[in-house]
Amino acid sequence: MRLPPFEYQAPSTLDEALKIKRGQGAAAQILAGGTDLIVNFKHRLFSPATVISLNNIAELKRIEVTHDALVLGAGASLAEVASHPAVNEHFPILVKAIDSIGALGIQRFRGTIGGNLLLQPRCIFYNQSHYWRMSKGLCHRTGGKDCLALEGSDSCHSICSGDTVPTLLALSAQLALAGGGGKRVAPLAEFFTGRGESPWNIMPEEILTEIRIPLPWAPISWSYQRLALRPAVDFPLVNAAAAAIVEKGKLEHFRLVIAALGPAPMVLREVEARLKGAAPTREALDLAQDAAVRVAEGVVVANASASKEYRIQMAGALARRATGEALGLA
Ligand SMILES: Cc1cc2nc3c(=O)[nH]c(=O)nc-3n(C[C@H](O)[C@H](O)[C@H](O)COP(=O)(O)OP(=O)(O)OC[C@H]3O[C@@H](n4cnc5c(N)ncnc54)[C@H](O)[C@@H]3O)c2cc1C
Ligand code: SF4
Repeated sequence: MRLPPFEYQAPSTLDEALKIKRGQGAAAQILAGGTDLIVNFKHRLFSPATVISLNNIAELKRIEVTHDALVLGAGASLAEVASHPAVNEHFPILVKAIDSIGALGIQRFRGTIGGNLLLQPRCIFYNQSHYWRMSKGLCHRTGGKDCLALEGSDSCHSICSGDTVPTLLALSAQLALAGGGGKRVAPLAEFFTGRGESPWNIMPEEILTEIRIPLPWAPISWSYQRLALRPAVDFPLVNAAAAAIVEKGKLEHFRLVIAALGPAPMVLREVEARLKGAAPTREALDLAQDAAVRVAEGVVVANASASKEYRIQMAGALARRATGEALGLA
């Protein structure tokens, strides 16, 4: 498969990249590692006039610990993040999530942490060649008026499939974005729209510059769980992350996230509220499982390589397992 024609720009500073983006908006697309985007270009899912590579911008690759956060440049490769001593010391859950992505040689050495967060949501009716898609007809995401996975639906249900997404949410990460008249910082939890055709609250002229993870005030116990058809080079069918801080036998902090179900990851706030201040007991496992199944029932449609019913049940199973491991009850 051939690439569509485009103008290629590889600026060496963020300011230059932002200037190009400001001039062209959505007509210029950001290329980080390209491990997702190049496939999408070949499938003619995107045909931008200009491609702006971030690869020469050193300031987007820094990884450092400040007094209160771990700061990951959006352009740092997944392998660099996973092998960094500070990441291993403070957030081994992120290392586990990264270790499950694709294959070491391509997805993890070339793929970036920013590209993983902004991985285009996936759908079996969408991530196909142009020829395949034309045999099925258009859907919301390709300029049509219906959803091929859920007839009559007025929006797209494609799936947020990045492995780092639920772990970064469980760790209360924030995003730094530049462009659109300045810089801003936004909680990752508010970044997702829940609509597959425009999945993020990002302006066309903005670039993701950093991911900031607050350093916890006490040791975090955690779990990352994922289900895929194959153990490697395969996207999750469901994933779940949990992070907990237990002090004096009580849960001072607990967050449970399930994802790879629909366009946005889901923070199970109800579970968080019920468990805060409580002693971790096995009742938490039933609570997590029931809440995850209920949430999954509201978002999952038949657009992945496993049935809707199976993914809903497994959302419950993974939420239970993640909670159990994070609370030391497994
Ligand atoms: C065979 C195969 C298997 C895979 N398996 C997995 C897997 O198991 N789990 C998983 O999570 N992923 C998987 N991937 C997807 C992909 O490799 C990873 O998600 C990777 O982290 C994407 O990062 P990238 O830097 O290559 O992103 P790119 O492909 O360069 O970009 C991805 C998207 O993000 C946008 N973007 C990137 N950086 C920025 C930025 N700083 N600001 C604004 N927009 C930006 C791009 O415009 C594009 O739309 C797989 C891919 C393939 C081909
Ligand atoms: S979920 Fe529906 S609208 Fe979205 S890509 Fe799939 S078929 Fe298209």
